[in-house]
Amino acid sequence: MPKLMQPVFRFAPSPNGYLHLGHAYSALMNADAARRMGGRFLLRIEDIDTTRCKPELVQACLDDLAWLGLEWPEPVLRQSEHFARYRAVASELERRNLVYPCFCTRSEIAQAADGALRDPDGAPVYPGTCRSLSPEERQVRLDAGVPHALRLDMAAALAEIGDRSLDWHEASGERLETITTIRTRPEKWGDVVLVRKECPTSYHLSVVLDDALQGVTHVVRGTDLYAATAIHRVLQSVLGLPVPVYHHHALIRDDDGRKLAKSAASKPLRDLRAEGIIPQDIRRQLGFA
Ligand code: GLU
Repeated sequence: MPKLMQPVFRFAPSPNGYLHLGHAYSALMNADAARRMGGRFLLRIEDIDTTRCKPELVQACLDDLAWLGLEWPEPVLRQSEHFARYRAVASELERRNLVYPCFCTRSEIAQAADGALRDPDGAPVYPGTCRSLSPEERQVRLDAGVPHALRLDMAAALAEIGDRSLDWHEASGERLETITTIRTRPEKWGDVVLVRKECPTSYHLSVVLDDALQGVTHVVRGTDLYAATAIHRVLQSVLGLPVPVYHHHALIRDDDGRKLAKSAASKPLRDLRAEGIIPQDIRRQLGFA
């Protein structure tokens, strides 16, 4: 008899500010689903942006989640402690010609981009300027130490993947038992950044590597990351990583319908706590039993 796989969930905040109700919702969704399904709940700190994710914000994040009543196994994976691992994978992708150095500045991209061509997040699609640099031009700039990012060569990656499926399973229901197969259109993203200029990785690269490393079977996160899943599927495919099931939950919005993260009214959990709100109030307000 095959051993049934224990579900593994994770909450993966980027502590570049204090956690608010939207974070609490996502964390509780994961922890409750893990409990209902007899699974594990992991915490991962996505602090690759070491200038914005200050140690005191990381600590505040851990305190707020503990205050909410969440528990997780230690040690917690902190992405800032894993740069060497991400760098090694980026080098492998470089050797396979699936990424290329991009020296463009933000304003150069804005000028060169076709304004009508937007990625699923609404940003201009990278026009591919540095993809067509000759090896000599590239080397001159590298030797001169011009700062560069590494971009995924999306067309090359899709060619390598060939007819392997890039679909994903979007799950819903009490025990995430209802599955819908989602078709992806990753080419709509263009050549996304996999290694930023100022940091040896990017959200997309680290998230797929760490979900695999931690054996995550169910990724439960907000719908703001729904479209990015297409990029994650491409990376999982070229890197030979397992594919988790996904559930993208609705975002908590403020009274005016704005996304909480962008809203002036989004109060940090710690302020609510200081006002005497208790975790049960938060659970009730967010619709958890
Ligand atoms: N760190 C990401 C964020 O806080 C979430 C990553 C994920 O759940 O895939 O927006």
